[in-house]
Amino acid sequence: MNTSADHSLQLVPEVHPGTMNGRTKTGLAWVSVGILALLTIALGADTPHLIGWLGFLAIIVGTLVISSNWLSESPGIKNNHIMFGSATRRGMVAWSLGIFMTGFYVVLYFEPTYLSRVIALVDPLKIAISGESAIGSDGSVSQWFLYGFLYTIAVLVMGIRAIIKYRHSRYQVVRTSSVMFFQLGFAFLIPNILLKLNQPYYEWTNIWPLRYYELFPSEATHLANSGTIGMVMLTWGIASILILTPVLTYFFGKRWYCSWVCGCGGLAETLGDPFRQNSSKTLASWKLERWLIYSVLGLILLTTALLWLDHLWGFLGTTAGTFAKGYGFLIGAIFSGVIGTGFYPIFGSRVWCRFGCPMAAILGLIQRFFSRFRITTNGSQCISCGNCSTYCEMGIDVRWYAQRGQDIVRASCVGCGVCSSVCPRGVLQLEMGPKETRKMVV
Ligand code: SF4
Ligand code: SF4
Repeated sequence: MNTSADHSLQLVPEVHPGTMNGRTKTGLAWVSVGILALLTIALGADTPHLIGWLGFLAIIVGTLVISSNWLSESPGIKNNHIMFGSATRRGMVAWSLGIFMTGFYVVLYFEPTYLSRVIALVDPLKIAISGESAIGSDGSVSQWFLYGFLYTIAVLVMGIRAIIKYRHSRYQVVRTSSVMFFQLGFAFLIPNILLKLNQPYYEWTNIWPLRYYELFPSEATHLANSGTIGMVMLTWGIASILILTPVLTYFFGKRWYCSWVCGCGGLAETLGDPFRQNSSKTLASWKLERWLIYSVLGLILLTTALLWLDHLWGFLGTTAGTFAKGYGFLIGAIFSGVIGTGFYPIFGSRVWCRFGCPMAAILGLIQRFFSRFRITTNGSQCISCGNCSTYCEMGIDVRWYAQRGQDIVRASCVGCGVCSSVCPRGVLQLEMGPKETRKMVV
């Protein structure tokens, strides 16, 4: 016999962590077929290139089919077993994904010859855009076009997913469109088109010290010797860090760069979005974050200074070059590339931005001590649900501030606005105002 209690239980939808609907299964089937097609190319089977391109297409279509699940649900984040899912909470699926992504990055960075067939697959596109081939006459291959191509596709496709998911928030829609625009135009197409015009390759959105070699003497001299456009690039690079960065960060906080323009941030906000809840909120990780990020900043300042001293006066022997090589390998490749992206499924989407990026360190210092930006909290409305803290990709315990009615002015906050978008009570607002009006305990 049904009691009223039994009846109320039946009204609760039966959703289990491992459950997949038909659409997800179809999408996963498309993605699997696409990966299989690309693997046959990579492993050297005599497969026509058309199959490889259809493989890319299948992965894109499959991802969009899975993403379309969000259309049939109300927009915004759902707490539907996200902390129990194998993919979303460091289960087997997440670890497998992390190992796959890390392994792929290691091969791409250090042994690209294993990917030479995939590089050859996209080479016609590279030739069409940049006028150059990635394959040298001696058979050597350059992996960087393939890298940029995959990176851009990931930002665009997962960007569409993010727009669908956060369609209730104009801020999120415009912000996501912005990172997609800058990645496609200024970090991928324009630098390659410049090559076709016999100009230096230049990623306009990567500012020193994120693009750490940009102000090294070798690169600066190369740009200075590359005619008018080279001088424009060099001037833009110097002005970006000395003028643009302080001015825009003063007015808007670090979000103008980290959440609207930067390619690393773009990938984190799109490809990394399904894993944002995995960022650690412990005090220990906050401490580690400060130690690491400012150490990396110190290291790149020292490396750049040593290189210039050596360039101008030449008394340092091999020291400066060794520093530059060490930084390039440990920070430029391993930290920002392999760990920064490969570990998304385990440590959350902003591992690099939070613990390593020296540009984020500079932006953060300006934001914390000088900027007009803050997130205001209407503490009396907070129901302590914790959505904001859970989904803060920078590991900030937003709820702690909300419960106390304090403004959030943290160096690490990238102003993604997701805490505000997921708050069911409208407690959090991204605002600007005179620094003196901040409500915070120092
Ligand atoms: S505090 Fe809010 S806006 Fe800042 S990084 Fe965290 S979620 Fe994004
Ligand atoms: S600020 Fe909003 S999301 Fe955060 S705990 Fe309070 S009610 Fe929940």
